[in-house]
Amino acid sequence: MSTASDQPRAGYFGPYGGQFVPETLMHALDQLATEFAAAMDDADFRAELDRCWRQIAGRPSEMYFARRLTERCGGAQLYLKREDMNHTGAHKINNTLGQALLTLRMGKQRVIAETGAGQHGVATATAAAVFGLDCDVYMGTEDMRRQRLNVLRMELLGARVIPVEIGQRTLKDATNQAMRDWMASCEQTHYILGSVCGPHPYPTMVREFQCCIGREARRQMLAAPGRLPDVIVACVGGGSNAAGIFAPMIDDDVRMVGVEAGGSGPALGKHAATLCLGAEGVLHGARSFVLQDDDGQTAPVHSISAGLDYPGVGPEHAEWKRSGRVTYTSVTDSQALGATLALSQTEGIIPALESAHAVAEAMRRAADMSGDEIILVNLSGRGDKDVTEIAEILERREQSEG
Ligand SMILES: *Cc1c(COP(=O)(O)O)cnc(C)c1O
Repeated sequence: MSTASDQPRAGYFGPYGGQFVPETLMHALDQLATEFAAAMDDADFRAELDRCWRQIAGRPSEMYFARRLTERCGGAQLYLKREDMNHTGAHKINNTLGQALLTLRMGKQRVIAETGAGQHGVATATAAAVFGLDCDVYMGTEDMRRQRLNVLRMELLGARVIPVEIGQRTLKDATNQAMRDWMASCEQTHYILGSVCGPHPYPTMVREFQCCIGREARRQMLAAPGRLPDVIVACVGGGSNAAGIFAPMIDDDVRMVGVEAGGSGPALGKHAATLCLGAEGVLHGARSFVLQDDDGQTAPVHSISAGLDYPGVGPEHAEWKRSGRVTYTSVTDSQALGATLALSQTEGIIPALESAHAVAEAMRRAADMSGDEIILVNLSGRGDKDVTEIAEILERREQSEG
């Protein structure tokens, strides 16, 4: 029996998604949804986006067989999709180039963005420089302190970094301020959101701009080793790198695993494992899973990796969890650190701490699988930005071990 409620609603993934925003933003979201749909149907737009991905981001990114890491784990073959080799060091540039092109198409001259670790801010500032757009990036002062190098990079690229002094002074607060700016400025300004979060059309749009990862990976796996992987593993902050590699193979017979930040333990405030430990709620314009306390207040979060340190998650992931299509798990700070050292010393690749969560989960699984099975890890970014922090942690650890 079919009822009206069986029809997919625009902007919804099952019960998740939607547009929970003030009336003043509805017009900007409608305009964006219309423009995005038209752009996706426009062969010239797609050709220009392909050119930007190739010439600016450096795509396609490599598909790499991690031979020594595979030998160390003793089990399934481990392959890495090398988003760490993109210009600016992560997958985020895929999305900011797409949204910058849309900004030009809408005839707007200014972009704004939120940033936590600063990676999305740097990718936005880069795209803005390439296309001559004015760029303001909101960033919590706590994150500015922790990620000083990325603040300097953004400023060098010609962007203005606007310090956010409210709340925990991290990503959630920066996102609130960016949305506030957009409410007053959306006639001339486009808000480049950095993950598959926020109100419709952002979750769909950001996923589409990240799907270059999964489309390439599918083609590359079929070329060599000659078949699709048995399992794909990706880390999940807001969920954009994971959605980008999952979505193009979602109808294939491939198991998928999203890895959240287990932080230093399961107590509220010690982690950022939103799907594993959170509950349904509304944050930043969409219904999804949220980490919240007993009063429904958004909870503080912690992770060794600033890029996973977010109390929300994209609504399509909530639906993939509900339907069982994707399995979600978590990896702790110290497991991620262990995987960082393992990948660095077996393959010569220093991963971003975010990506190291996916590596840790893949290593854990590989050992229980046979040598003719394949795990594909989305290596979402490189670890240059994390080297100082890792060194400090290792030093503290040595001291406490005497
Ligand atoms: C920002 C970031 C993430 C987390 O964001 P998603 O939207 O979940 O992909 C993961 N890895 C790296 C390297 C990042 O910079």
